[in-house]
Amino acid sequence: MKKHNFSAGPSILPEFTIDETARAVRDFADTGLSIMEISHRSKEFVAVMEEAQQLFKELLDIPDGYHVLFLGGGASTQFAMVPFNLLNKKAAYLNTGAWSKKAIKEAQGFGEVEISASSEDKNFNYIPRNYTIPADADYFHITTNNTIYGTEIKEDMDSPVPLVADMSSDIFSRPVDISKYAIIYGGAQKNLAPAGVTFVIIREDILGKVDRYIPTMLNYKTHIEKESMFNTPPVLPVFSALQTLIWLKDNGGIGEMQKKDEYKAGLLYDEIDRNPIFRSTIPEVGDRSLMNICFVMKDSFQELEKPFLDFATSRGMIGIKGHRSVGGFRASTYNALPVESVKALIETMQEFAQQHA
Ligand SMILES: *Cc1c(COP(=O)(O)O)cnc(C)c1O
Repeated sequence: MKKHNFSAGPSILPEFTIDETARAVRDFADTGLSIMEISHRSKEFVAVMEEAQQLFKELLDIPDGYHVLFLGGGASTQFAMVPFNLLNKKAAYLNTGAWSKKAIKEAQGFGEVEISASSEDKNFNYIPRNYTIPADADYFHITTNNTIYGTEIKEDMDSPVPLVADMSSDIFSRPVDISKYAIIYGGAQKNLAPAGVTFVIIREDILGKVDRYIPTMLNYKTHIEKESMFNTPPVLPVFSALQTLIWLKDNGGIGEMQKKDEYKAGLLYDEIDRNPIFRSTIPEVGDRSLMNICFVMKDSFQELEKPFLDFATSRGMIGIKGHRSVGGFRASTYNALPVESVKALIETMQEFAQQHA
């Protein structure tokens, strides 16, 4: 039976990425060797790294003055690396979920942290508005897509201080005005590559403003100067990331992805709003994520949660159980997820509702 992979992360990747990676594991760039057993300083791999950085810049239309880094450690290491490199006295954070909170906790180890606004009062089911970003903060940190709760900031906001964004789960789902950000980072395993590589887009001029000693590996300058080759980079995930970037370009680039992502999310949200037994967890339509679509059973159908999960599993749906802090269901509709998978889930929901409502 065909599997429909709605996993939140690690998550579905383009077949192209998987096929090309499998090939390179056997024979990389006609070297007769696996990509896992060659030097990262070989001309073949250096070409992969350079092309990946170049294509990343091209697809996101990244202006001059920014660097693209491919690092280890996951987005979680960035939670500490950002304040280590930028926080002198005070930083401001927007608290929109569990990942924001983890970022806040790390920053608190380096200085004062002001929470500009929080949606924790309603279990993070909305994006706060009408708050003030303090003009004396060293930077303002946001999480653009809240993978667990299914809310998303879809506009590039104006900030009086350098703007830092965790875009782990919505990078490449919409065009971004990079010039509004000082740093954008994310783990690759949501919309780009297998786990193991973290991308960082960084404007060089924000560095050099803190006095503390920064360990070499946690200093952005190290990786900018050595173009992500200071130490051994995560070779295989970087190769896979390049394949996804090639696939993105061949499929019309980010504008096309956005159209497709909006179409997929629209189909599923319409069904959730229409179906008699399900409801969305995000009341404000404009706050709903295009990547992680959360829904629950209506109150009178609570006991059907487990039966629906079993039914959906029997229909090939993978990874739709909601995160424990929200419950219910979460369908992640990343770029590589085909429209057919969304339609198959909708049919499953309709069939189940007919049987039970
Ligand atoms: C998954 C995720 C993270 C954590 O990423 P790791 O690479 O596992 O450290 C951080 N932020 C967001 C928004 C995520 O979705």
